[in-house]
This record gives sequence, structure tokens and C-alpha cells, in this order.
Amino acid sequence: MHRVFGEQREGRNLLEDATWRSSRYLIGLDERPVFPAPEALARLSAFDESLPEDPQNPFETLALLDEIGSPATTASAGGRYFGFVIGGVLPVTLASNWLAGAWDQNAGLTAASPIAAKLEQVALRWLLDVFGLPPESGGGFVTGATMANFCGLAAARHAVLDQVGWNVETEGLFGAPPVTVIVGEEVHVSLLKALGMLGLGRERVIRVPADDQGRMRADALPGISGPTIVCIQAGNVNSGAFDPATGIIQIAHDAGAWVHVDGAFGLWAAATPALARLILGVSEADSWATDAHKWLNVPYDSGLVFCRRAADLRAALTHSPAAYLIEGAQHDPMEYTPEISRRARGIEIWAALRSLGRKGLAEMVERCCRHATRFAEELRAAGHEVLNDVHLNQVLVSFGDAEKTQRVIDAVQRDGTCWCGGTVWQGHAAMRISVSSWATTEADVERSVKAILRLASMF
Ligand SMILES: *Cc1c(COP(=O)(O)O)cnc(C)c1O
Repeated sequence: MHRVFGEQREGRNLLEDATWRSSRYLIGLDERPVFPAPEALARLSAFDESLPEDPQNPFETLALLDEIGSPATTASAGGRYFGFVIGGVLPVTLASNWLAGAWDQNAGLTAASPIAAKLEQVALRWLLDVFGLPPESGGGFVTGATMANFCGLAAARHAVLDQVGWNVETEGLFGAPPVTVIVGEEVHVSLLKALGMLGLGRERVIRVPADDQGRMRADALPGISGPTIVCIQAGNVNSGAFDPATGIIQIAHDAGAWVHVDGAFGLWAAATPALARLILGVSEADSWATDAHKWLNVPYDSGLVFCRRAADLRAALTHSPAAYLIEGAQHDPMEYTPEISRRARGIEIWAALRSLGRKGLAEMVERCCRHATRFAEELRAAGHEVLNDVHLNQVLVSFGDAEKTQRVIDAVQRDGTCWCGGTVWQGHAAMRISVSSWATTEADVERSVKAILRLASMF
């Protein structure tokens, strides 16, 4: 059985060859441009072959993947990638991912993989602890915050319509009582997309004005009546700012509304007491979405949804509508996610949390924030304008007018020392620096700041 795993080439079997190539790749990351060179991208045409008629040797397939593929990757696993909000990959989570890959478990059903179900139960318990959420909350391991938003909002849609006697899972939305959805002006596009997929409409929402940091203004909330879902944000994708949860949740709950939190990266602020003031009140909501592939630094893809009343999440996502009524029965993971079959994402999350421990996790989150603060201080000291209050891991920098800022961003991306993206913040062009990787060191920040300042001084 599995003869191919025993077969050797140059003293290595196929998996050893993959290990050797992966290690060589990761060790070399520090020495290569953070964005692939044009020549490396040009070589991607090597993949434009027609589908082979005959089987090809697995060693040669892996060699092609490495020799042409590796140089064409962005070095987001390294310490100087600050684009979008993208974490790296903690070594123990990559190693666990490899072992779990060898296991090839289907995590949807306990009967298909007791080990995957066990580790996801443990990971869920630890996550609820880290986030300070009710221990009896339900949870689902999904692809990312987009799907996590979708699942949390599906639970919300179920609950607010159930309250007025409408079963949306069986009857659909045709003829249903209208559902009011309230979002902040700075809502993330993924949440609007989730609303669209749920039949609640991307543009049918009430948008609440935001302040200069992008926080929803609690004093500008409309009056709430009838089935209503209020969506708040823990961590604005540009500024990192948090909507004022305590005030908004109080008002929403007094009116019987459901509160969903998009905390794709910001929810991780709960991991350290140092950021407690930002996250205050967030745990009072009804559902939460976050990513593990961002700030927890596990491999793609890995998102998480939590729901205060597990039964609401199950009612929205179960495959067997009658089954969710059976309290106390053993529930399969697939009853809390849109999928049946899926990979065992919880394993890497378990590995990350176990190896970091509470202290290591807090330290990783604090370290990223410290690096962000240093970026802001040094760029400001050099005369550039930082557009946001840097309380978390996000920094928005202007280098003058929109054109000059864009030229600096382009130059930084071409230079290859680090990678930062561009954004528009409240009408102003900005470079966005997101420090989300465990791998970023003081030396990485220093090297990156130097490169940015050198390039900015050329315009
Ligand atoms: C990244 C992000 C999302 C989307 O997450 P994916 O994992 O890419 O689906 C949603 N909301 C916020 C605030 C984000 O930063």
C-alpha cells in the first residue's frame, strides 16, 4: 500500500521531498523580494501545458510546482508582508496541517472523523474562553470571515423571524415579515455580500454614519422596531477602530434586535488585557464572526462563527431541520456550517492555541500592535501624515496628495523590501500597513520603515 510514499529519489521519499522543498522555501523568504519579480511571473507560462494523456511522475510534478511556483509566490509567510490584513503561518500550525493532510479526515461528521470532531470541540472551548464569550455558545469552522458573517447572519435571520412566528428555513423569505438590517457606514463589503446571499439585500440596509475613525455613531442609530439585525464591527479594515459596542448593543437589545459582530481580526484584541478597552461590551452580542487565518496565523482557509444560542446557528444551518429540536442529542459539526464535507480546520487552531498558550497568544497580538505603533511613530517623525489613531495593528499613511501617495505605494511594491497596499480612507488616498504576522520582527519593521522613507523621499 502507498508504495509511492516509500519510493525514493535522491534519498528522499515524496513527502520528505516536499518537506525539504518547503523548508528551503521558508528559510529563503528573508532574502527574496516580498512580491515576485516580473521574470518569476513570466515563467508561470510553464504551466500552460495541455492536460497530459499519460500519468506523470509525482516527484517531477512536485519539482515543477516548486521550481516555477515557489518564486511566483508573494512572501506573505515572511515578516515583511503588510498588505490587506493577512497573517502568516505559525510553524506548528503548518506542521499540524501536513499531518492532518496525511490523515485526510472529513470533518463534517463525527462518524467520519472522531479525532477531528474532538479537536474542534476542544478548540471551540478554548476560543470561547479567549474571546470571553459564553461557554455554551455554538460555533462553526468555516472558510473565512465572509462565510462566518454569512453563518452569523443566517442565525440572526432565523431568530428574528422565529420571534414573529415565521420559519424562514422552511418557508423562505417570500411573504415573510420584513427584516430591518442596520449597518455602519464603514461596513465591510463581505458583510454586505453575506446579506445579499441571504436574501436580505446588499443595499436594503440602513447605514448609520461613522465618526472620523470609522466607528458607527451610537447617537445616530435609527429607532428600532420589528425584526431587526444590527451589524457592528470590531476592527475596521482600514483604521482598526471598534464600533462602540456597549451603547449600541444596549439600545438594540432593549428593542429586541439581534446584534452581529464582524470581528475578522479585531476580535483577537480580546486575547490581551492590554486591549480590553477596545473590545469592551463586544461579548454582549448575539453572534460573532472572526478569522483564524489572519491574526491567529494558521494556514488558509480558516474562519470562525460563534452564536450565543447554539440552537439558532443549528436551526439555520442544519441539514435535518427536525434534528435540531432534539436537545441533548450528539450534534455533528456539519450542523453548524453550510458544508457537509470539509477539511478539519480546527486541528491547526487547536495546535496554535496549545503551543502559544494564553500568554503567547497575548504576546503575539501585542507585538503586532507594538510594531504598528512604531511604523506610525517613525513615519510621522519623518514628516508623513498618519491618518488614523493607531490603537491596534493598522496604520494609514498619506505621503501628500493622492497622486504622490500612489506613487510611493507603487515604488514600495516594486522595491520588494516589504509590501503595503493602498486604500481610500474617508476620501483620502492612503497606504495601509497591517501588521498581522507572527513572523514580523523589530528588524523587519526597521528595514521596512527605512525602505519606505527612502522611496518616499524620491518624490
Ligand atoms: C478580512 C475581513 C473580512 C473577510 O474575511 P475573509 O476571511 O477574507 O472572508 C470581513 N470583515 C473584515 C473586517 C475583514 O477584515
